[in-house]
Amino acid sequence: MRKYLIWTIGCQMNVADSTHVGAELEKLNIQPTDQLHEADIVVLNTCVVRQSAEDKAVGKLGSLKPWRRQDPHRTLALMGCMVGVKPSSKLRQAFPWVDVFMEPSEAQPLVDHLRNRMIESELADIERRQLAQRYQWQDADTPTASIKHLSLAGEPPVAAYVPIVYGCSHACTYCIIPFRRGIERSRPLPEIVNEVRGLVAQGVREITLLGQIVDRYGYDWEGHANLVDLLHEVHGIEGLYRIRFLTSHPNYMTDELLEAIAHLPKIMPHIEVPIQAGDDEVLAQMKRGYTADDYRRLVARIRQVIPDVAIHTDIIVGFPGETETQFQATYDILEELRLEKAHLARYSPRPGTVSARRMIDDVPDEEKRRRHQLLEAQHERISAAYNLRWQDQCVEVLVEDRHKGKWRGRTPQNRLVFFEDARDLRGQLVDVRITWTGPWSMQGVAVDQEPALVAPPLAFTLTS
Ligand code: SAH
Repeated sequence: MRKYLIWTIGCQMNVADSTHVGAELEKLNIQPTDQLHEADIVVLNTCVVRQSAEDKAVGKLGSLKPWRRQDPHRTLALMGCMVGVKPSSKLRQAFPWVDVFMEPSEAQPLVDHLRNRMIESELADIERRQLAQRYQWQDADTPTASIKHLSLAGEPPVAAYVPIVYGCSHACTYCIIPFRRGIERSRPLPEIVNEVRGLVAQGVREITLLGQIVDRYGYDWEGHANLVDLLHEVHGIEGLYRIRFLTSHPNYMTDELLEAIAHLPKIMPHIEVPIQAGDDEVLAQMKRGYTADDYRRLVARIRQVIPDVAIHTDIIVGFPGETETQFQATYDILEELRLEKAHLARYSPRPGTVSARRMIDDVPDEEKRRRHQLLEAQHERISAAYNLRWQDQCVEVLVEDRHKGKWRGRTPQNRLVFFEDARDLRGQLVDVRITWTGPWSMQGVAVDQEPALVAPPLAFTLTS
């Protein structure tokens, strides 16, 4: 039995892409392993959004060279944003020990490569197997669609990612993603709904719909359904408990969308909507298309429509030309808005982007680090204060897995919760009383396991 190993660097979209590749390899009767020495096929799924991610991928690729050279029957595939929509000849020359180059989200080049090397009898056997695949989920409307984003091996996850928009057609000046993932392409609505149905039939209870600008779902097809339509459809799927979606862009967060989140109970009060910077000049240089005040108004609107919402954001520090005052504006708006989570990044120029071609990366590295650290400390403080508000409260946790003897799950707002319980609670919604909070996680006890409150003794006896 041949085995595969996939290493994934980067975002949730890459995680979903890797699951897709895994599922396709399993259709070829190839099983997963986490041991390099056991693997016949290795896929390295890469990220280049920042220089540090690219360095990591290059390092890993170098370390795989001896593995690949040891045995001519092995296959090494390089996937994702390092490859882009078309692998350059430079890339092929730089890594001649790579057998297959795969663009983001596409498993086919590897599947074709492996099929070409198989013998007829092996293929016939695989085709027979495929007929019996459990993820060949069938539905009256779309009879042959299969679930792309679920690995067959092992237990299905409680929470799964489902890409709904591939690529990106925005032109944020710092961002390499449109160059590497291609133009924006929304998946047809029935295909997504069908896939989610199939995932739920396998035991998945939460899905996160993914797109670089997820709230632009359907904009690339005239007359096509939008994200709200899709959310309504997915919401109707029985057995699905929770729905999330990311990443949103401030300019596409319509009232209709906010209302849908507020009124459809399965959609979690959790929105990822990056601001990137708090200064208008920097935002204009980034070509984000909104001002700090626009963002303030959006946050107010979201908080007004969706009670208890958690808003997550992304920040880049040290964008070309960012002055101390401009950085301070970012610090100040985060202090003011107290967003529940912030993903922080230090700017790095990426090949082909406008900022790399036309702007000077003039904020010194140590200054970027200093700004990053300041925001980190601020974020830890805000996040700790936010979690503290849940102390002694009862929260609904969707239990995902066991971690160091405890159950691990997340609240509707996506906060991590750990609790001890002897029962098998995987995949269940459990009410948990929070007994401890820290900046990054909380602990508690299932409400139905709490020690019963001892009735206080009567202070006096009523006499008639
Ligand atoms: N469309 C997604 C982008 C994903 S990239 C989104 O809007 O979130 C994730 C984050 O990486 C971005 O939000 C941004 O904060 C950061 N990022 C992108 N390009 C970068 C660069 N050149 N340097 C530093 N951080 C960058």
